[in-house]
Amino acid sequence: MTQEKQAEKLQAIKGVRDILPPESALWNRVEQTARDVFATYNFREIRLPVIEHSELFARSVGIETDIVLKEMYTFPDPTVVADRNFLAGMRALRDLHDAYQKNRGYTIARAKEYVAAAFAGLSEGIERAASRLTSLRPEATASVVRAYIEHGMHTLPGDVKLYYIGPMFRRERPQKGRYRQFYQIGAEVLGQSDSPNIDAEVVEMLMAYLERLGLRGTTLYVNSIGNAECRPKYIEVLRQALQSVSARMCEDCQGRAITNPLRVLDCKVEADQPIIEKLPRITDHLCDACRAHFSAFQEQLKQRGIAYEINWRLVRGLDYYMRTTFEITAPGLGAQNAICGGGRYDGLVELLGGPPAKGIGFAIGTDRLVLSLQEVGAGNMKAERKDVTVPVTGNALKADVGKVFIAWMGTASYPTAVKLARRLRAENFIVELPPEETKLKKSLGLADRLGAHYAVLLGEDELASGSYVLRRLADGEQKKLPEPELVGYLKSDRRP
Ligand code: ATP
Ligand code: MG
Repeated sequence: MTQEKQAEKLQAIKGVRDILPPESALWNRVEQTARDVFATYNFREIRLPVIEHSELFARSVGIETDIVLKEMYTFPDPTVVADRNFLAGMRALRDLHDAYQKNRGYTIARAKEYVAAAFAGLSEGIERAASRLTSLRPEATASVVRAYIEHGMHTLPGDVKLYYIGPMFRRERPQKGRYRQFYQIGAEVLGQSDSPNIDAEVVEMLMAYLERLGLRGTTLYVNSIGNAECRPKYIEVLRQALQSVSARMCEDCQGRAITNPLRVLDCKVEADQPIIEKLPRITDHLCDACRAHFSAFQEQLKQRGIAYEINWRLVRGLDYYMRTTFEITAPGLGAQNAICGGGRYDGLVELLGGPPAKGIGFAIGTDRLVLSLQEVGAGNMKAERKDVTVPVTGNALKADVGKVFIAWMGTASYPTAVKLARRLRAENFIVELPPEETKLKKSLGLADRLGAHYAVLLGEDELASGSYVLRRLADGEQKKLPEPELVGYLKSDRRP
């Protein structure tokens, strides 16, 4: 082979790419800012394997989704392919074949024996091989939940808040903003509460992150896709409605109308749009509990000054979502303009064999986020160059200083607690804000177990007087301070 031929051969695989300097500096800024901002919401990093048993994704993402059906990179475990039963089955088949070929002692009775032996061996071998198929992860929520269960993390104090950063793999058609190895920055909250306050805080964190990156012109879409109570009923209504119209829709939709009617709402085919617009909407079929959850979530977004649009067709491409779903689009990306998708997945931990737990999270597509920052001029390489030479100064390095627990009592004080939390987080304090009202004693116990340095006590009296009680947890010393002084005091008392 000539040298030129060899050089021609050695290229990156289709759909994957190198990220070179100076662009890699922008990637570092994007990832470091995520670490900094997420830390202020008391999220900590989890590092996950890139390979998992395929079954994990089949059971969580869903066996009928495009991701699992068509897009996963899956390979067998070599030791299982050489499984004893599998080999014995193969041998029985070969013997049968030989006997037949040579007509040596070939009888129907003998053939039946061989076939039975082959069947037993092969089916056991194949079953074992299938149960041991390995996949490159197409997403990471399933792995986070697997790890949560495997390490008994439900016994940790408070909600478990984790973020991850890393590559994902999906065999899709490569195009701008769509790659076969792409990167995600994701976060998950796992715990006992499904309060819409958690949903709102997660979205607030996302928006604070994008704002700190300087990304403008994003749109947040939200929806509720119901729970185990109301969604199946809605799907039936949808299936019925589709019966009379699906013949006029694209081929994919004709299939979806039967196997997975919700997915019809995802369809991008132009001619199908007027038909989809007339289909029954989930918003009109939510049960009372889901309706209340969705409206409380929206109320919380409004209170936090977060603009959003409802998109009743936002069902997401993974089976595990329920209730809240959301997506963020960004400018300058063309057709692949979704930079983040997320939602609630309350049944998932149990589905994967864990204790009952609620969950919510999101995944940001880093490739698209970086592209969009470059498009809107917020990915200035000059600024990045400075970044490379400056040592990391993020919160990650001061993980054990300045952790504040806000113990709020009475629903009236929650909005004030939210505002105070935001203000402290903007000052890089790590703030834990319980999503649900908790009795003072329990709050202080939790603050202690979470390793907080301070607790701010915020009840009706404090609300009325405008002064909050600040308690240093190490020695129990308490001060009553109006908000500006409180923030100032915390800043001056922050350990080096
Ligand atoms: P899309 O509708 O664009 O295919 P998705 O619904 O499949 O996205 P999720 O599985 O929710 O995406 O993943 C969250 C985010 O990850 C997406 O919003 C997107 O920014 C990013 N992402 C997903 N697939 C790819 C890919 N193949 N290449 C680059 N980024 C991707
Ligand atoms: Mg996709």
